[in-house]
Amino acid sequence: METIGVLALQGSFAEHMQALRKIAGINPILVKTADELARVDRLIIPGGESTTIGKLLNTTGLSINLCKRILLGMPVWGTCAGLILLAKKIDDEQPHLAVMDICVKRNAYGSQLASFECQKLIPEISNTPINMVFIRAPQIISVSGTTKILAEYEGKIIAAQQNRMLATAFHPELTADLSVYNYFLRL
Ligand code: GLN
Repeated sequence: METIGVLALQGSFAEHMQALRKIAGINPILVKTADELARVDRLIIPGGESTTIGKLLNTTGLSINLCKRILLGMPVWGTCAGLILLAKKIDDEQPHLAVMDICVKRNAYGSQLASFECQKLIPEISNTPINMVFIRAPQIISVSGTTKILAEYEGKIIAAQQNRMLATAFHPELTADLSVYNYFLRL
């Protein structure tokens, strides 16, 4: 049985755990230490506050281990703040993992009040539209290298994939739709 980790330094890790518990045949665990990271086959980096998660990744020393695992091919999925942490380039200077060839703008839709929901089809992921919740979401400004754009909304990139790195600007853990989880588990 595969062990799926959810990085649990800050943010919506409990909601991701709840969603993962609905999927049969996997063992979801919280990851706060290097030992826990060593046990997982895949990792989700949740939404939250990317500056806080980035600092904690550094102070816990998890950052180096995590970068190594990702570069060795461990599948990783960043949602919202998690997407920001994966990006090689961020508009703000802040600690991040810098592993994925995407350039990201934080808080691109404005404040918390500008949070919104939409429905969008991502053919690679599901044959029905996916419910998407955006909360102080980032935008992917550009992709490079082998990164593929998976979805755009109103002309802005909201989901991308590079090899086994998946990045979504929205929060699937806040909806009942498990299609992005199932896609990530197949990577
Ligand atoms: N705006 C947050 C950041 O910059 C991300 C918001 C979220 O993860 N919902 O980290």
